[in-house]
Amino acid sequence: MAEQGILSIVGIGPGAEEHTSPAALRAIAEADLIVGYTTYIRLVKRLIEGKEVIKTGMTEEIGRARAAVERARAGARVAIISSGDAGVYGMAGLVFQVLQEIGWKRGDSPELRLVPGMTALNACASLVGAPLGHDFCAISLSDLLTPWPVIERRIEAAAAADFVIGLYNPASGRRTRQIVRAQEIIAAHRAGTTPVALVKSAYRKLENVVLTDLDHFLEYEIGMLTTVLIGSSNTFLFEGYMVTPRGYTNKYTWDGDALPGQTPGRTLVVADERAAAEEA
Ligand code: SAH
Repeated sequence: MAEQGILSIVGIGPGAEEHTSPAALRAIAEADLIVGYTTYIRLVKRLIEGKEVIKTGMTEEIGRARAAVERARAGARVAIISSGDAGVYGMAGLVFQVLQEIGWKRGDSPELRLVPGMTALNACASLVGAPLGHDFCAISLSDLLTPWPVIERRIEAAAAADFVIGLYNPASGRRTRQIVRAQEIIAAHRAGTTPVALVKSAYRKLENVVLTDLDHFLEYEIGMLTTVLIGSSNTFLFEGYMVTPRGYTNKYTWDGDALPGQTPGRTLVVADERAAAEEA
């Protein structure tokens, strides 16, 4: 029987090494074979000197995932790397599908190690303020593997439910209509003045941040390396920061006392319910 291999599925964060976790750095250091998309391999170049590397283009993900699994199963220590978090629009799901396909069971070789990374939403949020301070969702506008009507339905639902929306894969050379349609759908539910941030290449060399609004964000460049953050109805701009409040001021004064009718640690009382409670 082959030696027990290790397959680490590693998110390396947005770009700069200081935003890669020590656990991710260790998983890379301990691997003999590194598998990943060329751009990400370049981001960790310094760490992989002397190691075997399988790097391929973006459309060869299935081949890469299979190669990683097969080598690890045969006893190698393999790190498969994605930018951000490997489980967020990354390779982790595909690796599990490959394992399922070959009939892998827990306890078999390879041992799996999942190493979390800082996803683009977190990295981009930190460059603009606190846009994710309340309920938010992520939607990818890539229709390469997902039918466009499904994506439209999700944008519509998120817009109607007043989520802060993070758009991954908003546009590419060939994909330009999708973001225009997304703007149209969201604008039907939110004010044109709703804050929008465009964050390109967060924590990488060509980092660029634009703070604008729902009526105007399409006037700026949006590409493969951009994440689009669209505020909810509560999101506001303050001193060049984008902020979605958590709701503290619904309940407390600035001295920390509960507002009339509110009780710390209990459900927030809203106007109609308060009237009903008083009547009872
Ligand atoms: N696994 C990655 C996402 C891969 S999908 C993660 O967790 O972040 C690729 C999309 O992620 C890009 O189109 C872009 O929208 C976003 N993205 C990834 N890295 C980024 C960065 N450094 N700055 C801004 N957006 C980024």
